[in-house]
Amino acid sequence: MFGKWEDRPGYTVERGAVSDWCPDCDAVRLFLVEDRMEELHFIIWRQSTSRSARRVICSRCDYWKYLSGFGKGYAEWVPVARAERMPLRELLELTNPDLYDDLYRD
Ligand SMILES: [Zn+2]
Repeated sequence: MFGKWEDRPGYTVERGAVSDWCPDCDAVRLFLVEDRMEELHFIIWRQSTSRSARRVICSRCDYWKYLSGFGKGYAEWVPVARAERMPLRELLELTNPDLYDDLYRD
């Protein structure tokens, strides 16, 4: 599950958006949820694709991290187009309520 994202075979698909803390920006940012999809050719007559990795990537810089496991990793994913129109604070509350509580509630 480690190594350079671009070195993985296959292609990247955007799945949605969440909000998280970016250590490089030192700020809350919109993150894109991306899957790396790999085509499996071992069955000749029926190609299939399989997710080989999932990551979230900061929309402002190149920081990204793997999202492991089978869950969403966040409370919610929001469609990217909708997330881009939402106030970041609202997106954070929806997708990452724990961090929202840490930052905005005493
Ligand atoms: Zn960033």
